[in-house]
Formats: sequence, structure tokens, C-alpha cells
Amino acid sequence: MLTLFRSVVFMVCEMCGKEVTFCKKVVIEGVLLEVCTECAKFGTEGEKGQTASAGPKPIIEQRLERREKRFTPKDVYSEGDTEELVEDYAARVRNARASIGMTQKDLAMKLNEKQTIISKVESGAIRPDEKLIKKLQKELGIVLKERTPGEVTARATSSAPGTLTLADLIKTKQN
Ligand SMILES: [Zn+2]
Repeated sequence: MLTLFRSVVFMVCEMCGKEVTFCKKVVIEGVLLEVCTECAKFGTEGEKGQTASAGPKPIIEQRLERREKRFTPKDVYSEGDTEELVEDYAARVRNARASIGMTQKDLAMKLNEKQTIISKVESGAIRPDEKLIKKLQKELGIVLKERTPGEVTARATSSAPGTLTLADLIKTKQN
């Protein structure tokens, strides 16, 4: 009974970052990913050994981005003190990676992620999900999440290093 209970572990969908109890292995854009049943619709099942042909990539990317945008900090802030992704995460990742002489490709390989994901994170186009945040923090020895008391986004950003531009701020708020 105990072992049965322990086996119920939350997994994180590699596509949308949602915590689910069951992940399906599918091939999306030629990459084998463990995703939730919802995201599995975008890929072909890995077991069939099919290599994904040139699928409707733009649509997948659009959906992905739309999904990413749902993970707005506001959802979490309203609950009070929480660990929140720092606003200048893109610069932190980029600077840390560059300072140890790694290319985006190197980092992607180390983290078992696609280079495009790293590139998008570094440009601030997407917010890394929980799993990726942890991997980045560990690999680069940086802090990407900070404890922020509820509703003080302004203070959090003003105390951030000068790498944050006004454009970044606007972009983040619009998300
Ligand atoms: Zn998913």
C-alpha cells in the first residue's frame, strides 16, 4: 500500500509545465517529450517509432506561447508570500551562461532541452517552467526565484539589477 502511494508522483509536462500524475511520451517536432495528455495531442506517440515529419510547427509554437502566458506572476502573487520568477531572469541566464563560456547549444545539451527553448528564455520570449528553472539554477549556480511578498511587484523590480529595461518591464506586465 505504501509503495503504491509513493508511486503517485507529480510529473511536470515538458510542454506546458503543468503538474500531472501521468505523462505520455510523444514526439513533437522530432523531439521525444513527456507531456500531459492534453499536450500529447500535438505529437505522435513515441512507441510507434514514427519520426515526426514537418508538422504544423507555427501552430504548436503559438499554442505553446499562449500557454506560457497563462503562467503570469499575478496568479501567484495574490496568494501572498511566494517564490516568484525574477523579472530579469532572461539576463541572469544569459549572463551566467556567457560568463562560464557556454554556448546556448552547450547549455541546452546539458539541460536536455532544445536550443530554441534556451534562446527564447534568454530573450525573455518565454518564461521557463518550474522544471527548467530548477535545472538552470543548478547548472548555472544562479537564483531565478525570489521570495516576494504579495502585491509588491514594483518593489521587486526596482531592487533588481540594472539589466532590466523599461521594455522588459512593459513586456512582462502585458503578459
Ligand atoms: Zn501539457
